[in-house]
Amino acid sequence: MTGTNEQGKPKILVADSISDEGLRKLQEFAKVDVALKLSEDELAERIKSYDALIVRSGTKVTRKIIEAGTRLRVIGRAGVGVDNIDVDAATEHGVLVVNAPEANTISAAEHTIALLLSLSRKIPRADKSLKAGEWNRRKYMGVEVRGKTLGIIGLGRIGTEVARLALGLGMKVVAYDPYVSQERAKELGISLLPFDKVLSIADFLTVHVPLTDETYHMISDKEFEIMKNSVRIINTARGGIIDEAALVRAIKSGKVAGAAIDVFEQEPPKDSELLTLEEIIVTPHLGASTEEAQRGVAVVIAEEVCRALRGEPVKNAVNLVYVPAEILDAIKPFLTLAERLGRLAAQLVSGRIESVNISYQGEIATKDTRLISIAMLRGFLSQFADVNYVNAQLIARKMGIKVTETKTEDAENFSSLIGITVKTDEAERTVAGTVFGKNDLRIVKIDGYRVDAVPSGYMLICSYIDKPRVIGPVGVILGDHGINIAAMQVGREKIGGRAVMVLNVDNPVGEDVLEKVKTVDGIFDVKLVKL
Ligand code: NAD
Repeated sequence: MTGTNEQGKPKILVADSISDEGLRKLQEFAKVDVALKLSEDELAERIKSYDALIVRSGTKVTRKIIEAGTRLRVIGRAGVGVDNIDVDAATEHGVLVVNAPEANTISAAEHTIALLLSLSRKIPRADKSLKAGEWNRRKYMGVEVRGKTLGIIGLGRIGTEVARLALGLGMKVVAYDPYVSQERAKELGISLLPFDKVLSIADFLTVHVPLTDETYHMISDKEFEIMKNSVRIINTARGGIIDEAALVRAIKSGKVAGAAIDVFEQEPPKDSELLTLEEIIVTPHLGASTEEAQRGVAVVIAEEVCRALRGEPVKNAVNLVYVPAEILDAIKPFLTLAERLGRLAAQLVSGRIESVNISYQGEIATKDTRLISIAMLRGFLSQFADVNYVNAQLIARKMGIKVTETKTEDAENFSSLIGITVKTDEAERTVAGTVFGKNDLRIVKIDGYRVDAVPSGYMLICSYIDKPRVIGPVGVILGDHGINIAAMQVGREKIGGRAVMVLNVDNPVGEDVLEKVKTVDGIFDVKLVKL
């Protein structure tokens, strides 16, 4: 059996240390090995026999490692930032990436405030000087933070918590975050302002954005120039968001009065001037280093990884849409239906696929259907590629297939209908289905003809001209070859018009039998599908 060891338990490799509580949770469910400080090559070799990998920020999970992990199904990041994981490579290989984004929010926010106050009161320098035998009170004169303006770049989980704490200190808080609404900022009692405006009015500036192409060096020479003289800067987010060389220049020129840096472009920093300037306070990536946060992230990631390995929905998927459990329950039968309709459509079409339209009608159109679309796409693409929920959309894009979605209230006589229309360079085919009762899946339309077929097992789908002596001869040919018909459905546009016949058969139908069926007068297309 894939994905399990000889005792039937999945295997999990923990490559950065996580707390004992987390390890214990993992051990209840899986065989767990801890192997720390592995090189890329060592990890690429070790990963081959594991179903899941757990890391913190120390291990770089590269494409090479992911590609070597032929059994790998899930990567868990015990923490929030996934910049040490090649998420694109994971997505391409259908490997789920989960993280624990909330468990260290408070710790990171408190560390930010600790650095803010350390900066304003020069605590680390004063501490060092006193221990060196000096008593220099004048040199370590500080500034108050009450009434000062704190500029927050990135008002996510940590940015928000920092805002709350800073408001508690009596600071004025302004923020820049293009993805957050004014209402949200208003609720917090702070102002969202344009980036340059925040830079120009902040007495203290702290960044809380993820490290992305967009945020790399988002604070550099040009940005320092806009800032107030004697501004103080804090970075507990990620190295690289602030251009380190530009920061050194800004400190040396006196523009920036001080900086507190917890994260570095290279960790640990080597020969960095940041470590030589007394205006800069440094900590070795301690934002999440509290007992509470470490316990929290380890437990959360252990639960998430176990859930993923059991095939259950996870809460914090980085490369998969998140659907809350109660909504998931409501759409579950549609997930199965969608996957089967996708598989059916893929087996009906011929030619080069150009586009896929996924349609929702009636009640289902009012729900969160993102996961249903992924299920349908996965079913469809599974006929052509190795695909799962994680990489279905990416693979469709890579295959150059245009995927669209339509939603309408009207569901004809059904309460809900979901459908897929596939256009190729040769033809267009549509199938649609519904769920009767709780879990009674039905195909109710093929190419516009009304049918009522159960989407399972082997199905023979024949397109023909509605006239006598078509259905009978097909039955006879199948019977002559020992193929039992479990159910049969026909749908037609009008008497004597085009029609479709759907037969659920108990055994596969050989090519020779299909050829015979094709010779029946009136039949113009025959497809055997397996759902
Ligand atoms: P989050 O995803 O909750 O928040 C990030 C916010 O940044 C979001 O609101 C997003 O809209 C905003 N954003 C994204 N791009 C932006 C841009 N170009 N300009 C302005 N805003 C932008 O993340 P979080 O949990 O608050 O974490 C924030 C940062 O802290 C991350 O970089 C994370 O890796 C880091 N972190 C560091 C430590 C540590 O040990 N020092 C611990 C935890 C988190």
